[in-house]
Amino acid sequence: MSLTSPTISAETARHVLWHYGAEGGYQPGSFTQRLMEAVAAADVVHTARLRVVYPELVDAMVLACTYRDGITRLKEAAGIKAAPLRCTRCQGEDGPFTDEQLCEPCARPMPLDGVA
Ligand SMILES: [Zn+2]
Repeated sequence: MSLTSPTISAETARHVLWHYGAEGGYQPGSFTQRLMEAVAAADVVHTARLRVVYPELVDAMVLACTYRDGITRLKEAAGIKAAPLRCTRCQGEDGPFTDEQLCEPCARPMPLDGVA
């Protein structure tokens, strides 16, 4: 399954965001709700089968629960402006950030006495 360029409409993105309780989601009709529950419960084989009929929804669901930035990408697809990434220590927006989401200066602070 390739997710290199999933085409996910804003509407589907918002439905999947709702399913995962993410900000910006909205509740779809009862059929789509149950369909998303089915996709969430499906094993690999059933996911592939559902994807034949509902490629966009299945791609969006897989994106949300498989990829670390999946929710962020769905928010982009929904046209929701994502909050900027901030350093958890100084709240600065200048990246790059470490895995602990610290900016470079905070990740390697200068010792106070100036001796390394
Ligand atoms: Zn910082």
